[in-house]
Amino acid sequence: MSGRTCDIAIVGGGLSGGLAALALAQQRPDVSLRLIEAGDAPGGNHRWSWFGSDLGKAGEKLLAPVRKTVWEDGNHVAFPAYRRQLSTPYFSMASADLAAALQRELPTSAIMLRSRVADIRADGVTLENGDHVSARAVIDARGAVSTPHLNGGWQVFMGRHLRCREAHGLARPIIMDARVEQLGGYRFVYVLPLSAHELFVEDTYYQDEPVLDRSALSGRIDAYCREHGWDGEILGFETGVLPVITGGNAARYLDSVRTEGVALVGARGLFTHPLTSYTLPFAVETALAIAEDADLPGDQLAAKMEARARRHWASTGFYRLLGDMLFGAAQPERRVGVFQRFYRMPEPLIERFYAGKSTLADKARVLIGKPPVPVTSALAALTSSRPALQTHLDESDDK
Ligand SMILES: Cc1cc2nc3c(=O)[nH]c(=O)nc-3n(C[C@H](O)[C@H](O)[C@H](O)COP(=O)(O)OP(=O)(O)OC[C@H]3O[C@@H](n4cnc5c(N)ncnc54)[C@H](O)[C@@H]3O)c2cc1C
Repeated sequence: MSGRTCDIAIVGGGLSGGLAALALAQQRPDVSLRLIEAGDAPGGNHRWSWFGSDLGKAGEKLLAPVRKTVWEDGNHVAFPAYRRQLSTPYFSMASADLAAALQRELPTSAIMLRSRVADIRADGVTLENGDHVSARAVIDARGAVSTPHLNGGWQVFMGRHLRCREAHGLARPIIMDARVEQLGGYRFVYVLPLSAHELFVEDTYYQDEPVLDRSALSGRIDAYCREHGWDGEILGFETGVLPVITGGNAARYLDSVRTEGVALVGARGLFTHPLTSYTLPFAVETALAIAEDADLPGDQLAAKMEARARRHWASTGFYRLLGDMLFGAAQPERRVGVFQRFYRMPEPLIERFYAGKSTLADKARVLIGKPPVPVTSALAALTSSRPALQTHLDESDDK
């Protein structure tokens, strides 16, 4: 290490930075690291969920030390035309669970909290308070940024963690309950039964504008809970305004966010599912790749990560195309039809879709047949571009 503070400095202790640190601690405990987080705890305050089919064995092993809620019996979806039970197991962890695992698995000196980085360079970072952390390799995991170089729409949501007075009786997660009134976009409610009395209820919208009306969403969660007889104490909430990427120029985007010689990961590094806005499966993969390349000089690690991001972008074009059709061709209140049709597909296809691993046959099956949107509107959507994903992206403040 010779005169440096550490071998690897990770800026941002959220999902991607936290998992990279966890992978290094598990696989390369000889590599010294600093996980530098501006907030009071790693991970912020969200809940991250994923399907069992999203991760391979190595990914499961990475997440083994993290406490999580597991629904082995699968999940279900509900649309105006039908309900369907799916057998894919579902998993969820709270940021506090990731934070606890990091505190357990990493040496105490590796986690730096309340440490906002003001300047990032290839050989180290400077904090707002003037302290410097020098490193052989620096990883930028500071989360999504507003950008004029990518286009799309938005996934806007508010989730509430509730302890019900009576047992709620729900055995499996409801991934999408789209039987609710469709307002301003594709709307669905997502429900996780965290224990016999605890529920997580989230009201979600695929909408054109990055606008989150807190009191309206809170009122609609109240109404949904009332309708289901769920009443009790509110334990917390989360909100999100996530970009749904339908197109843009990845090279220009990367030029605009890259610091020469610094590896970009997470949402900032383009490692997202363009349509679901989820990043967990890709954050797990990049974390494992970082641990494998932990001896590389910083500039080489950065180049490898960027090559990975470009491959990821190239391989996720299908989801951007679907997003384009969803936002551009379907009237906001009729977008539900796109998902209602999609969820009639075979389960393995749905699993590969969420994991970002759709095959050519899957893509053909999704696109061919009775179109979910009018053909003329779909063609018009494909020849025009969506607005830039520019806004204030740090909407996820939570209780
Ligand atoms: C409420 C919410 C729920 C979500 N649920 C899911 C889900 O269920 N499944 C899923 O796959 N995805 C989910 N997502 C989407 C996505 O996976 C998350 O946004 C994920 O946290 C992105 O990971 P990241 O590491 O890129 O960024 P983040 O997790 O946001 O981490 C970035 C970190 O960098 C820190 N930081 C920023 N600037 C600095 C600085 N200058 N110095 C030091 N630290 C800094 C921030 O404080 C933050 O902790 C959710 C997003 C939100 C907002």
